[in-house]
Amino acid sequence: SYPGSGHGGSSLSRDSQTSLTPDTSSNEPQGAAFTCETCGEALSSITNLQIHQRLHTGRKIHSCTFCGKLFLAKFKLREHERVHTGEKPYTCDTCGSTFTHASNLRKHQQLEALKVRT
Ligand SMILES: [Zn+2]
Ligand SMILES: [Zn+2]
Ligand SMILES: [Zn+2]
Repeated sequence: SYPGSGHGGSSLSRDSQTSLTPDTSSNEPQGAAFTCETCGEALSSITNLQIHQRLHTGRKIHSCTFCGKLFLAKFKLREHERVHTGEKPYTCDTCGSTFTHASNLRKHQQLEALKVRT
């Protein structure tokens, strides 16, 4: 008599075919998604992608102590924190208005330059 009537008693799982090679053939950007080339994670914006990639590079990310917003550059964080501290270091020397950002002052001065036509 046979010890086992059926053959194929070996339980080989065919699910172990995990491909470790990243598929780079379909590398077209889809919508507004930005994909990390290191781990393949999709980020919604280029800034988020840059912040995410710091995880791989180990470089420092600056976070706002007030709201936790992340910044790549320290000067950007310092500029942002003025939103919370109310510090307005930029002063228009034409009218004395104060601004939190240099860009806001520049915009303001551009408007003033348009208004004051001699
Ligand atoms: Zn990544
Ligand atoms: Zn903040
Ligand atoms: Zn002004």
